[in-house]
Amino acid sequence: MNSNLKKKSIAGTAALYRVSIQMVLAFFLYMAYVYLGISIWLILAFGAFTGLIFGKVFCRWICPIGVIMELFMGFGGSDGKFRQMYQYHKIGCPIAWISGALNRFSLFKLKTDASTCISCGLCDKSCYISKIEPEKYSLYKKGKEHPGDAFSCSRCLSCVAACPNGSLSYKVK
Ligand code: SF4
Ligand code: SF4
Repeated sequence: MNSNLKKKSIAGTAALYRVSIQMVLAFFLYMAYVYLGISIWLILAFGAFTGLIFGKVFCRWICPIGVIMELFMGFGGSDGKFRQMYQYHKIGCPIAWISGALNRFSLFKLKTDASTCISCGLCDKSCYISKIEPEKYSLYKKGKEHPGDAFSCSRCLSCVAACPNGSLSYKVK
């Protein structure tokens, strides 16, 4: 298997793990909402709190609607999917608005280690933000904004999974 195919398969496996985790968490959240009657305000507060610690993780790691949206966003090839994800994570819902605004200030941040980066560009190709707005965002190019700080970064970690060098990390700043 050539290295690009190998990277694609690692990124695909990572995405599969994320969606599997989201399905389990989304199921428990839905059950708690329906059967325990937890308030929508409590869910909103929880989403905002996770934003403070992790950034906009709720949409693609926990949210039941996020799972459904992601399944639908699979249509239209990778470009169509990237465009839909970009719009969805820009508009989203109140939890997405709050946690997206917290991406810049969250405890956990996405970082690029310039000393090990080989400028292969695989991270930018895997990220819907830098793919849709390449003139503004890049995970590795100097003089561009980091997509990890952008409002619409959903902490999907596709960029981290795509990097062949381990130059991208998601950790406490
Ligand atoms: S986690 Fe990485 S790939 Fe995903 S949206 Fe954020 S910067 Fe882009
Ligand atoms: S994928 Fe990794 S090595 Fe390649 S440009 Fe991005 S950060 Fe640098």
